[in-house]
Amino acid sequence: MLSGADTRLIVGSIRTMDDDRPEAEAMLVLGERIVALGALDELRAVTPDGVVEERFDGVIVPGFIDAHSHMQRAGLKALQLLDDGADAETFSAVMLADGDADPDAPDWLGDTPPRLDDRLAALSRVQPLLHAMGFTGVIDPAVTLDELAGYREAHRLSQLTLRVVAMPWPQLGSPHVPDIDAALRLLDTIEGVTGDGDDRLRLGPIKVYYDGEGMKGQALLERPWSSDDHGVQRLSADEFARLAASCVERGWGLGVHAVGSRAVEQVLDGLDAAAPASVLGPLRCQLIHAYLEPSPESMRRSAALGVIASLQPSIAWNNAAGLMRRLGDRAVPVNPLRDWLDAGATLALGSDAPYFPFDPRQVVGVAAERRMRGIAEPVGLEQAITVLEAVRAYTRGAAYAAFAENSRGMLRAGFLADWVLLDVDPTSCTSAEFAAARVLRTEVGGVSVFDAVTTNRNAQDL
Ligand SMILES: [Zn+2]
Repeated sequence: MLSGADTRLIVGSIRTMDDDRPEAEAMLVLGERIVALGALDELRAVTPDGVVEERFDGVIVPGFIDAHSHMQRAGLKALQLLDDGADAETFSAVMLADGDADPDAPDWLGDTPPRLDDRLAALSRVQPLLHAMGFTGVIDPAVTLDELAGYREAHRLSQLTLRVVAMPWPQLGSPHVPDIDAALRLLDTIEGVTGDGDDRLRLGPIKVYYDGEGMKGQALLERPWSSDDHGVQRLSADEFARLAASCVERGWGLGVHAVGSRAVEQVLDGLDAAAPASVLGPLRCQLIHAYLEPSPESMRRSAALGVIASLQPSIAWNNAAGLMRRLGDRAVPVNPLRDWLDAGATLALGSDAPYFPFDPRQVVGVAAERRMRGIAEPVGLEQAITVLEAVRAYTRGAAYAAFAENSRGMLRAGFLADWVLLDVDPTSCTSAEFAAARVLRTEVGGVSVFDAVTTNRNAQDL
């Protein structure tokens, strides 16, 4: 029997992203979890006496999870570049302006590396801004040991209001970690392996770079950029295969930066040789970016091997014009989301924050409309996905990548009460309406972490 103390009856237009029950009028939340969803009358019947109904105008959906957000680096940048009272919109604009000014600008301007205190301050600064965009979770896709220490300390101090999956980055190829054996030794110093942790902070697969950046002509392509220039290969296929096998043996999954067709194919070869789908899937191995000419065969293999496609429409938005100058019409299908979905791959959407646009309203818009920076007409509309498909990839798809398909990404009995209140319905609105949506409230584990009403009231008090 439920007790009244921690119970809440939340009433609104609920869009669950759960195929078994796509809509509900109300949800009963006990502590951090949803205990029941359904018709209001049904839930009233099981709600303890004395619980006051909380009615929300708007549409309640699962909280957004950015499957590729360098959140801690975003926080460090925010600490240095943002005024104290800056809102999420300003945050977003300042991050992008900084990237435009110098794409290789350092995240931290101090003479010495950021200290643990700086990292904690960075996380405290950035999380409320992300909540204001509807985020309840992120996967941080390249976490150094120092960054991991920052996340772990923030968690210990109960300062993580967002749920984080941290992907350790052994910085393979740097002077301190020149080769695979050094990378493996470094990984051995980390307490835990892929999947370890709790609902607030969990270790993801490790981050490895297979090729370079598409915008710089460094993506490793099967068909060359020009003459015999296929791009940059940072690891040989043999080295990668050895790394993959050694990691899997230790319990580490791999999330691999692979932009171009040949990189994608060779990464799949290496993973395929390392372990079967029954092992790779649970480790949530990822192809990261995979936006330039991935072959239909690679997409099918990715689906069959249980390797997640972690894709960022924001990068396509930023790079499309430059890629078209280099590759002509070859760049039109850049970031082929439609093909990935049709191939049956698990699509986890993200942004590559703070270096590319990371407001989900904008990123979903790019996925659905294929409007790219500096280009008047939509680019490769046949690769568009619907608003709902994009929202599902930002919730269910990203939750799977975050080891949380049984606790997040949907609103369902037993799941964590991570949700966002919007003023539009993503199951029926246009992409323009979604792009203009207002985030009204965000809750993580049944705790309010953003409330537009309160925030506006506070702003007026100032
Ligand atoms: Zn990244």
